[in-house]
Amino acid sequence: MIAAMCSRCGRLHDGDGDWNVAITDGEITGSLCPACQTPEEHIAATINEATLDYATDANGRVVTAPKGTTSSLRVHAIPQHVHLAVDGQTLEMTPAQARALCRELARAAQVADRLRGVHGHG
Ligand SMILES: [Zn+2]
Repeated sequence: MIAAMCSRCGRLHDGDGDWNVAITDGEITGSLCPACQTPEEHIAATINEATLDYATDANGRVVTAPKGTTSSLRVHAIPQHVHLAVDGQTLEMTPAQARALCRELARAAQVADRLRGVHGHG
């Protein structure tokens, strides 16, 4: 589920590349094409993608549920730091550490998706 056009450059979504979806309070507020994402935004999105299940509730709002047993997870990325809050415990990482974590999470998510026969979120 991806909005039709990049919020920054207006490029139409053509299904190409790794688009990010911005979700605020359950509403899709925009999307970013691969060219417009900062590395940090890409990291945050990848971590979210790898660790959250996305679904739509009865009102069409996007709801996220952590995969596995974690009860809450938030990722916030700014240029120098990535904050990863799991169950109220905040971890602060450098982008390099976050990238390494990302690769592990992406790999784990791929394995999980393969096992479930589910692929991606659009
Ligand atoms: Zn763009």
